[in-house]
Amino acid sequence: MKFFVGQKKRVLAKLNQKTSVSDLFNFTQEERLMVSTLGGILKNIYIEQGKEHMELISDVEYVYTSEAKLLIDKRINFMAETTTNTTSEKIKDELVKSQELNETKQELAERLTKTYDDILLNRAETIARTETHYLLQNATLDASKQNGNENKEWIWTAGVKGGVREDHLHMDGTEIGINEEFRLPSGASGLVPGATGNAADDINCQCTMI
Ligand SMILES: [Zn+2]
Repeated sequence: MKFFVGQKKRVLAKLNQKTSVSDLFNFTQEERLMVSTLGGILKNIYIEQGKEHMELISDVEYVYTSEAKLLIDKRINFMAETTTNTTSEKIKDELVKSQELNETKQELAERLTKTYDDILLNRAETIARTETHYLLQNATLDASKQNGNENKEWIWTAGVKGGVREDHLHMDGTEIGINEEFRLPSGASGLVPGATGNAADDINCQCTMI
């Protein structure tokens, strides 16, 4: 995700020897930038899926409603807040370590570069995948509801790394009312796969609904 490349540059540009996380990392600005950078992309993903799913199941045209806009905005704001928080905490930890070790500005710069390399290598893709999946499933549900479908079904799909979540496999074929929540063995529940609010169930989940 290019967003983090830009953020890394902004953080490193503010670096000097005596520094605190608030000097380096403008939380409000980063959070807003994430919303504005990714908001449009995620909204388009949702609308495209709404249209595509509607074409599959009906002749009716998909309508992008204010309710859908609200759901997307809420999710983007939540993602930006939690992600920015995690990054800010990580930078704070690295600053403490660097100060304890009496590192030079150069060493601190290298340390923070590694922090961002790690974000780009590991977290960025997971965030993108999880958020995309959340929106795709909600858009599918949206179109199904507009079409007047009364039920929906959980379809199990292997995880990204090919792993099998027994709990999710167990859900395969579960059919419930369109407005009901799927209840997982973990106790978590949600209207669509990938939207239970339980990170262990949602992150990298590739299950779908029809
Ligand atoms: Zn799953």
